[in-house]
Amino acid sequence: MRYDGHTRTCGLIGNPVEHTMSPLIQNFMAEQTGKNMVYVPFHVQQGMLEHAVKGAFALNLLGCNVTVPYKSDVLEYLVDIDPLAKRIGAVNTLVRVENGYKGYNTDMPGLYRAMCHDGVDITGKEVVILGAGGVARAVAVMLLDKGAGGVILFNRTAEKAQQIADEVNGYAGAEFARAYALAEYEQVLTEKKYIVIQATSVGMHPDVENVIIRDEAFYDKVEVGYDLIFNPSNTKFMQLTTAHGGKAYNGAKMLVYQGVIAFELWNDIRISRETAEGCIRQMEEAMK
Ligand code: NAP
Repeated sequence: MRYDGHTRTCGLIGNPVEHTMSPLIQNFMAEQTGKNMVYVPFHVQQGMLEHAVKGAFALNLLGCNVTVPYKSDVLEYLVDIDPLAKRIGAVNTLVRVENGYKGYNTDMPGLYRAMCHDGVDITGKEVVILGAGGVARAVAVMLLDKGAGGVILFNRTAEKAQQIADEVNGYAGAEFARAYALAEYEQVLTEKKYIVIQATSVGMHPDVENVIIRDEAFYDKVEVGYDLIFNPSNTKFMQLTTAHGGKAYNGAKMLVYQGVIAFELWNDIRISRETAEGCIRQMEEAMK
């Protein structure tokens, strides 16, 4: 890609940013679609976030992604926030508008598009979430938003799962989510099979032999196991799921699709499934 006087810049605001895969994904899409855009990481030091957002606007940046630890802190520097991002309480994409940036959350629409890509249909189904961190909370909100039948949350710290359930039930105006301690899964789950979203950090590189639930009988109940971890690409949770006849997916597609949706917002374009698959291949190659 040749850069010239018309090249638009997008970037990633975070601390640290050195590990990011986003430049690879975004610059690949720019190349594939012929968009005159370049994407670079910006390491923003603690205390500099407001300057970074205002500076990005002053420098005419088309948009930015926002990552740890600024996804919630950035809210106060935006001129507008998309309703889903407001409900999730975290923004990962800034889109330039007239007077500043509008914030979106593309992580959860990204997970939803990844699930659609994989043919996983959550409509009307009771979905199990393992974990109750920031990501698990966002997943529960997304499942409500996208028409799942309900959510069962299991977490080591049951109180945190309960907080999420209370909040999501408040949005639903009904009992949509139920919360339990992790150890209670045997009593709670019925004979049917479930879509299970693994949203804890257990099993992440380098702790690859670790898994959130060791009991093999649990995996007999897993129809689809969606691990949000993408490194390693075949986690212990996924291995156990497939060994017991379930379908297993990792978090790579979610990561790619959150980037795809950000690119679409910045460039007012629809990215094809083929280009998204190309991004996934680029990422897998880079992780080897
Ligand atoms: P977080 O807020 O730190 O939450 C971590 C969760 O893991 C909590 O539920 C915690 O339980 C649980 N946990 C950690 N260690 C545990 C252990 N030894 N035993 C049992 N439970 C344990 O993290 P987060 O921001 O929600 O992120 C969770 C994961 O999502 C990340 O690790 C990452 O792999 C994945 N992720 C993927 C993407 C993607 O694009 N694919 C994007 C973001 C994140 P307690 O509440 O009891 O501490």
